Amino acid sequence: MDKPGIVVAGASGRMGQMLIRLITEGDQARLAGAVDRPGSPWIGRDVGEAMGGAALGVTVTDDPIEAIAGAQALIDFTTPAATVALAELTAQARAVHVIGTTGLGEDDLKKIAAAARHAPIIRAGNMSLGVNLLIGLTRKVAAALGEDWDVEVVEAHHRHKVDAPSGTALMLGEAAAEGRGKPLAELRTHAREGITGERVPGSIGFAAIRGGDVVGEHDVIFAGQGERVVLRHLATDRAIFARGAIRAALWGQDKGPGEYDMADVLGLD
Ligand code: NAP
Repeated sequence: MDKPGIVVAGASGRMGQMLIRLITEGDQARLAGAVDRPGSPWIGRDVGEAMGGAALGVTVTDDPIEAIAGAQALIDFTTPAATVALAELTAQARAVHVIGTTGLGEDDLKKIAAAARHAPIIRAGNMSLGVNLLIGLTRKVAAALGEDWDVEVVEAHHRHKVDAPSGTALMLGEAAAEGRGKPLAELRTHAREGITGERVPGSIGFAAIRGGDVVGEHDVIFAGQGERVVLRHLATDRAIFARGAIRAALWGQDKGPGEYDMADVLGLD
């Protein structure tokens, strides 16, 4: 059987280039297309050459419909607006859509859920095995430790990141809230400044650090009286996210329409 064809959206991006490298260097899938934003200087160029290497025989296009038509999956680390538009197209083409884009709003998520009625969508704010394990651990620790253990999620990312808290930080906060049996929306406290008053008992706090080339660091701090438990994940190489996304695209090949996450792909639930 032919290898599944994967289209990479946001080909010129940090994650896009990593994905193209890993797909073409690996032997599990074929690069079926490379899509970028209309107006991008990469449009019309061979994607390998645009990345500064050898030609790969795939021309970067701003027409995702054409690219998806000849493919089995689309991997998308772009922007919320692009992701929502792409979800409609993958639904029409019945192709697997792997979404790594973060910062999606409630409206975006509704549109993605609608698209998932027609094709499989695998979405995760973090595609790494380690973080998905950390999410499960956070849920368990939050359930085991009572409300007098304060939960704080602290994350650090590179200076180019445009959204905060990170998608991963929110997933960790949600896991802690689930462990406490309450929705995150009820417990969430954003970064503090000025006279904030005392910490609200049972709340889950978020803080974000931005700088340099930090790939991604997440601490879930459980602070009790006289002791602290800190769960930590450090990402040092973006390849972990790209490998997870490729694995998700392959895993999705025999799945029916619906919304899935990395816990499904990794068999962690
Ligand atoms: P980036 O370097 O800015 O890449 C985004 C790419 O998407 C750019 O090439 C951008 O093109 C392109 N793009 C924008 N609009 C588009 C459109 N309409 N059609 C096609 N492409 C379009 O960002 P990144 O660091 O790769 O991250 C991208 C997203 O993935 C962010 O939301 C980030 O938080 C998330 N992320 C998730 C994970 C995870 O594991 N889930 C891991 C890392 C990153 P221009 O530059 O020309 O605008």
